[in-house]
Amino acid sequence: EAHKETLEFKAEVSQVLDLVISSLYSNKEIFLRELISNASDAAEKLRFESLTDEQLLEDDPSLRVRVLVDTDAGTITVSDNGIGINRQEMIDTIGSIASSGTRQFAEALRAAQGAAEQGDADKGEAAGEELIGQFGVGFYSSFIVADKVTVISRRAGLTSEHGVRWQSDGRGSYTLETVEKPGRGTDVILHLKEDEQEFLEPWRLRTIIGKFSDHIAMPVEMEKEDFETDTDKEGEDQEKEAKAPEFEQVNKGTALWMRNKADISEDEYKAFYKHISHDFDEPLAWAHNRVEGTNEYTALLYLPKRAPWDLWDRDQKHGVKLYVKRVFIMDEADKLMPHWLRFVKGVVDSDDLPLNVSREILQHNRKIDTIRGANVKRVLSLLESMARDEPEKYQTFWDEFGRVLKEGPAEDFQNRERIGGLLRFATTASEGSAQTVSLDTYIERMKDGQKDIYYITADSHAAAAHSPHLEVFKKKGVEVLLLSDRVDEWLVSHLHEYQGKHLQSVTKGKLDLGELADQEDKDKTEQAEKEHEDLLKRLKDSLGEQVSEVRASTRLVDSPACIVVGEHDMSANLARVLKAVGQ
Ligand code: ADP
Ligand code: MG
Repeated sequence: EAHKETLEFKAEVSQVLDLVISSLYSNKEIFLRELISNASDAAEKLRFESLTDEQLLEDDPSLRVRVLVDTDAGTITVSDNGIGINRQEMIDTIGSIASSGTRQFAEALRAAQGAAEQGDADKGEAAGEELIGQFGVGFYSSFIVADKVTVISRRAGLTSEHGVRWQSDGRGSYTLETVEKPGRGTDVILHLKEDEQEFLEPWRLRTIIGKFSDHIAMPVEMEKEDFETDTDKEGEDQEKEAKAPEFEQVNKGTALWMRNKADISEDEYKAFYKHISHDFDEPLAWAHNRVEGTNEYTALLYLPKRAPWDLWDRDQKHGVKLYVKRVFIMDEADKLMPHWLRFVKGVVDSDDLPLNVSREILQHNRKIDTIRGANVKRVLSLLESMARDEPEKYQTFWDEFGRVLKEGPAEDFQNRERIGGLLRFATTASEGSAQTVSLDTYIERMKDGQKDIYYITADSHAAAAHSPHLEVFKKKGVEVLLLSDRVDEWLVSHLHEYQGKHLQSVTKGKLDLGELADQEDKDKTEQAEKEHEDLLKRLKDSLGEQVSEVRASTRLVDSPACIVVGEHDMSANLARVLKAVGQ
């Protein structure tokens, strides 16, 4: 029995759909990229599963994606013979916008629309487009050009009567029914809107496939075209009806990363990035390396321009895909890139790992560890040369991803010094809260006799910049790093020195200005201590247990008093942060 039911979309779906449709109007051809990408993923998943269960391939072992046009029906079909989806998977993946980010997306969207309503229409619209770029629109981009979408799928391994048919006009609900489907895999059928009929032109589709999907590893096929003259046409048409259609591959279908660097154009690299990342923007930079020897592999790594919305999500997906000998093994291979470089996207293709490699094996694999170590070095080099040769570009990178990079010294002891060189800070000598000063620049500007790199942490830039602890430094013209990102406490508790210079908090301990403190300061301190002995003692007595010491100091210029913590105590700011998270 067909077992037909009508189900409602999850609440946010319609909202997201509206945004997708309205903001992608000028970029609508990406629907094809998204559908081909899903189809290719599904075919790659099946190839991987068939390594251990050959039966899944049935009598149809050549995996491919097909794009079919039916002019009379006004439909485009993207068809794959991949892994397929069953009824429950339809509900879980297609029927809800699968990712946990839906709600955040909807919220971000409301904020963007809020901006639009406050008369800042341009800003609202731009934000909308930006959002789409960051989220990836996937299956729902179908509704940019279609007013009805039908998905017919059969999971590999199930028999043909277990097909399932999903259909929706994208307005709140969809239907599901069980159908017969002879071939395994998924057909996504787009019923084109009245004014989107241009996509029925095969050449138009071929151009789009060339633009977005040329270098994915999966063949994308379309029906062979005949260029017969008019006089032959009638006979040809009749013949065609009798014959099964013939297909030809329309994309190059070679995995881009396997090609020679010298033969790949910038545009090809950029298109491939869009394919793997679903980012609308172009990548900021990339590194493509082939490694020969006992551990042979290819790595193609990209830096995005913009941070994804879920950069701070604990479950954020890693962006590096693992292949073994051109066979897709897994997405989000977090063993290939450390957490503090989680924004890097790309592909690693190994010649030496077993095809049936599992996540468990990856945990303790020396080859993987080597690849990961080398990947980190590649990204560091890429960033170092960008910082050196294109400082403005590096600044845009830093503004997006700097706070993630600051997690590096804690996670990667070995590369601490190199990461240190990439950090940028706001300081008492820089303008506003922009993080633009490198530690090398800081060191260059250090005063004669200054031994340490001084910093202050606070929960806002303003609090750091106006701290009374800075008075003596200002007086002496000594630069101080102003740290106010949440991650900064974490950073300075792991980055104790850089280029042999100790990082010293200005709020801790007895301030040792070394040779910066002149004899006059020292004399003054001593003198004050003597002069105010009574006062200091009275303060200490009345504050009792609350303080460990009350002393005279030259660290203040305008303020009468300040609180400092012991050299080895937790900083006041860290104490605040921990309190806020309930520790
Ligand atoms: P994403 O590809 O980023 O996961 P999509 O919206 O493109 O997001 O697709 C959502 C999910 O729907 C996919 O993760 C996959 O599980 C399922 N899906 C979509 N298209 C196919 C397909 N052709 N074959 C199998 N599963 C598919
Ligand atoms: Mg997708």
